[in-house]
Amino acid sequence: MDSTKEKEKELGEVELELDERLRLARTERYACQSIVREVFPSERVAICLRNRIKVFNEYDGIKVWRHKKTSKAFYSGLMVCGSVWLCPVCAAKISERRRRELQQAFEQHKKDGGQIALLTLTFSHKRFDALKDILNLFSKATEKFMSGRAFQNIRAEMGLIGRVRALEVTYSDANGFHPHAHIALFYTNKVNLNDIEEQMYVLWKKACSKVGLTIDRKHGISLEKGEKADDYIAKHGKWGIDHELTKAHIKKAKFKSLTPFDFLRNYLATEDKRYLILFKEYAECFKGKRQLQWSQGLKQKFVMEEKNDEQLAKEQTEQADLLGLIDYWIWKDILKQNKRSYFLDLCETKSFEEALENIAEYKKQRIKKAKSLCEELDRKSNIK
Ligand SMILES: [Zn+2]
Repeated sequence: MDSTKEKEKELGEVELELDERLRLARTERYACQSIVREVFPSERVAICLRNRIKVFNEYDGIKVWRHKKTSKAFYSGLMVCGSVWLCPVCAAKISERRRRELQQAFEQHKKDGGQIALLTLTFSHKRFDALKDILNLFSKATEKFMSGRAFQNIRAEMGLIGRVRALEVTYSDANGFHPHAHIALFYTNKVNLNDIEEQMYVLWKKACSKVGLTIDRKHGISLEKGEKADDYIAKHGKWGIDHELTKAHIKKAKFKSLTPFDFLRNYLATEDKRYLILFKEYAECFKGKRQLQWSQGLKQKFVMEEKNDEQLAKEQTEQADLLGLIDYWIWKDILKQNKRSYFLDLCETKSFEEALENIAEYKKQRIKKAKSLCEELDRKSNIK
């Protein structure tokens, strides 16, 4: 084999591997979502990608599509919960959309001659601190930090035009919950970031001590130059399960710092109820909070169109081919068999028809099994 062919083969294998990895990631997302459903049966996440959408009082059909560019299969006609904190499936979608928005803003700002710095704020905490309490204090401290006159001076010095704040939490057995914020600062003046960081440190320390939190110099604050949107995204990539999954093996090996979705993964792997308790504590504190906050006017400055779910869904189906419509009774079987993601796998690797056959065959086997069980029971009772 000549080297070009070898290379092509290698590329093919890498792509296949990626394809499989993406499918595995989807399987994991759906499985994790099912766990959340058990923990929060009355939240919207419990019906996400399960219940049908009603359009003008009638149910929309459940359709399966295949994206033209990526060849990925997906459903339409189903409710989505849109919860970035609770739902692993929605979180992946939403974070991808937000990633693109951020990228656009970063690029535009730099084209206009601006610069970006990445500020991380956190504080000291202990293993048994209640998340609810420390989160509350943290948000109070952040507010104080940004609202005083001293911060106004820094703002003027930097020529700060706006910021995007991402709220995040990780967990470790040694130190408990670790809430922190990553803030992208959009600024225009030439400044020494080390000097700015020193000034901010003094302010942050003061703000924290006012609410009863402590920080240390090394971990409490950091300010770095943000060369690329990727840097920022990598910093707060923990919000999106997809990003995490691409390096899931590293995470699992390290096993030190867990993201909330790691609680679900770990529960899947170990069935240790402790992870569910941790997830519940996290979710109850975070649901309803804004994950990503753009300062006023910043988004508009970069002429970003706000799209709602409906618009996005429409956009998505415009770029995809329709594979088929799923009968509601078959959909119920898919749910019962817990095969929402496996059905999509089959649509991608085989065909829509084979995917349907798989569901029907499984059902047939189950019925057969149940029948023979009944017959056996009958026989036994006759013998008596
Ligand atoms: Zn959802």
